[in-house]
Amino acid sequence: MTDRADAIVIGAGVIGASVALELARGGRKVIVVDKGPAPGAGSTSSSASIIRFSYSTLDAVLAAWEAAALWNDWEGHLGTVDPDGMVRFIRTGMLIFHTPGNNTTRIEELWDEVGIEYELLDPAGIKAKVPGMDIGQYFPPKRIDDPAFADDAPHEMTAIFEHQSGFIDDPMLSARNLAFAARQHGAEFRFHQEVVGIEQAGGRATGVALADGTVLHAPVVVNVGGPHSSIINRMAGVTEGMRIHNRPLRQEVFTVDAPVGLRLEDGFPATADLDIGQYFRPQIGGTWLLGGTEPECDELHWVDDPDHFDPYPTVEQFETSMMRAARRVPEFGVPHRPVGLAALYDVADDWVPIYDKSDLPGYFMACGTSGNQFKNAPLSGKFMAAIIDADAAGHDHDVEPVQYRGPRTGRSINLGAFSRRRDKAVTSGTVMG
Ligand SMILES: Cc1cc2nc3c(=O)[nH]c(=O)nc-3n(C[C@H](O)[C@H](O)[C@H](O)COP(=O)(O)OP(=O)(O)OC[C@H]3O[C@@H](n4cnc5c(N)ncnc54)[C@H](O)[C@@H]3O)c2cc1C
Repeated sequence: MTDRADAIVIGAGVIGASVALELARGGRKVIVVDKGPAPGAGSTSSSASIIRFSYSTLDAVLAAWEAAALWNDWEGHLGTVDPDGMVRFIRTGMLIFHTPGNNTTRIEELWDEVGIEYELLDPAGIKAKVPGMDIGQYFPPKRIDDPAFADDAPHEMTAIFEHQSGFIDDPMLSARNLAFAARQHGAEFRFHQEVVGIEQAGGRATGVALADGTVLHAPVVVNVGGPHSSIINRMAGVTEGMRIHNRPLRQEVFTVDAPVGLRLEDGFPATADLDIGQYFRPQIGGTWLLGGTEPECDELHWVDDPDHFDPYPTVEQFETSMMRAARRVPEFGVPHRPVGLAALYDVADDWVPIYDKSDLPGYFMACGTSGNQFKNAPLSGKFMAAIIDADAAGHDHDVEPVQYRGPRTGRSINLGAFSRRRDKAVTSGTVMG
């Protein structure tokens, strides 16, 4: 086994595997190192894997829309078929309630600009799509010990509905598919290998040091460590040159029986319900995934050490989420005990990812994915390859940001929008981006 490559990718999650694919496809010899056991076994394995286009900035909407085209033609994107099975993009559409806390007007403007079709639904239209839902406006979201939790709704909500959204049926398999495709181009994946240092010489990154004492050498090192990426950036000594920082945030996601008439088979759409601070997404097997949208009343649980956090849901968040769901669906059968998981988002200051180079030549990062970049994984590999190729050609991405032309729209995505040095983007400040 050689210890030299053209590029080392740290992390074999869905984004790391995508970066590996695009760098290998471009002719580089790539080694991917991951301290876990398999592609996608990190935070990717816990993803709700929702594909949607509702973001607050033009570049984010364009990126999600372009990435969806790659999921639509997964075999074409990979250029191969993984014999272990290929993921499927299950289209459910996306229902987004108009709520004071959700910038739906901005989303509608951006969709009009990009050409993403949607319907405006009045209360009768929503009831026809999701029969049995109570669509009263209860905003703002509340904890269940708030006396106002049980208040009646003053009026009913309206919504937007977009048809092309949905979810990927197996997030971890997505990473395996990408890793399989990357291997077809010669990429090598090494598991149970922990990076403990970034090698440097002559003022640039030259490789990585592993926990077993091995040193791997390459002129390009890409940090795609998910919730561990801020630790890896500290190893490289690049955090001072960043205006946007990232850190792990603990999140809980519950699995519940889908109410009658509101299952995947019934056409229940992925639903962003910022009125009560939850998202719902139908799941194969008659269940829903239920997660939070960081309403102001919910405390955020930042994590210092991503190797040590409680992976089990708490009774408190379980009860809050279940009562909120019951508020929305009177027929919802509240389960007796929590079934679900706790996992980590890697959250950037403005909830926009960082796809960028760094102040250390040769060291790049795809991090701060903020609980909302699974959908962009196939495209983020292309973004990183474009930045790394431009850098190799002597282009300074900090001075003149690389533009990525999306084949679906023919429009340019300004990769400077994902710079570590950007001004904070104006977003929802939540996982909605
Ligand atoms: C609960 C949850 C729900 C989500 N829902 C959605 C959604 O619905 N839609 C959406 O678009 N996005 C969603 N996301 C976000 C999305 O899943 C992530 O942005 C994406 O999976 C991150 O992929 P990654 O490859 O960057 O990181 P990871 O999958 O975390 O991979 C990082 C890898 O780096 C490895 N690593 C870390 N440190 C080291 C080291 N020192 N040495 C070697 N290897 C190391 C880890 O072992 C890991 O395998 C969600 C995320 C979570 C947690």
